[in-house]
Amino acid sequence: MQSKIYGKSVGEILKIKNDFFEHNDKMLELSSHQADALLRQPERRVCKICGEPISGEKLYTSQRMDYFLCKKCGHVNSRYEDTEDFANAVYISDNYEYNYSEADKAAYLNRMENIYIPKAKFLLETLDGWGLAKEDIKLLDDGAGSGYFVRACQELGIRALGIEISKAQVEFANRMADAEILRAVGSGDIAGIVEKAEFNVLSGIGVFEHIINLDEILSAIRRNPNINYVYLSVPCFSMSCVFEAANQHCYNRHAGGTHTHLFSDQSLEFMADKMGFEVARTWKFGSDMMDMYRMLCVSLDQNGNSALKDYFAPKFLNMIDDLQLVVDRNEFASEIHAILRRKA
Ligand SMILES: [Zn+2]
Repeated sequence: MQSKIYGKSVGEILKIKNDFFEHNDKMLELSSHQADALLRQPERRVCKICGEPISGEKLYTSQRMDYFLCKKCGHVNSRYEDTEDFANAVYISDNYEYNYSEADKAAYLNRMENIYIPKAKFLLETLDGWGLAKEDIKLLDDGAGSGYFVRACQELGIRALGIEISKAQVEFANRMADAEILRAVGSGDIAGIVEKAEFNVLSGIGVFEHIINLDEILSAIRRNPNINYVYLSVPCFSMSCVFEAANQHCYNRHAGGTHTHLFSDQSLEFMADKMGFEVARTWKFGSDMMDMYRMLCVSLDQNGNSALKDYFAPKFLNMIDDLQLVVDRNEFASEIHAILRRKA
């Protein structure tokens, strides 16, 4: 079994409706409000992951935010700290209601199938390769969102449960499953739950980068001897950052918004080490070329070149997987999936 794998076809994901293309200005405005909230916070003194003091020149500025490259671990930190106040300002509160329909269920299953089943298969295949049988896996998904990953694990026959702070998302996930696959928890309770959990696999898909009290959660994982594997995906410092910095009129999906820091291979190793784990297997596939494609399309529309955009779009989409694979193999992709194993 290879310890590093690369690439994933973007094809099916494209068919899932993408607001970023059609609502660039609206998304940019939302991101600008989130930046306002971050600009109000105290300056970050040390690297979010390795604790090295942040010093020297910024690496770049994008959408009014300065970013610093950590000299010790290669992590990229925004100038301002993510705090409780920031979290309260940027995460959408729970006051909306869902109207459920059969169409929602079909869209839910489509998203689960295309985006989350491959992630669950990667986990299953890896643990199987290490001698952990499917029947022996008990997975707790932290920050389970709308339950897609828990559902995907269950579809593959893995025992899985999710915890999530948004009651609306928990209700939505459970309604979609017609079963209790997620439980609502208070954000202050998560460290305690993680420390006591009787699960051998902990997952956090797109979660660790949003945790304010990250060190507390990492030591809770370290102190729970039941947890032998951690499966996570985090955003990385990548080509997408460069495209964003170069295209200030395009929505910044990657750096900005709720992402106040981005990982490197080295900073991921550093974070694993804090938990007493090692990064044992990785899968890299980014959305960098998708971001570039989106920015080109938005720019062409904005400068009156929609006919050229229509000509170019299908040609580019034919190449997009090949181009992204080059980025992935060169270790400059926007996302990494990693399976960490507890050190002996
Ligand atoms: Zn660092």
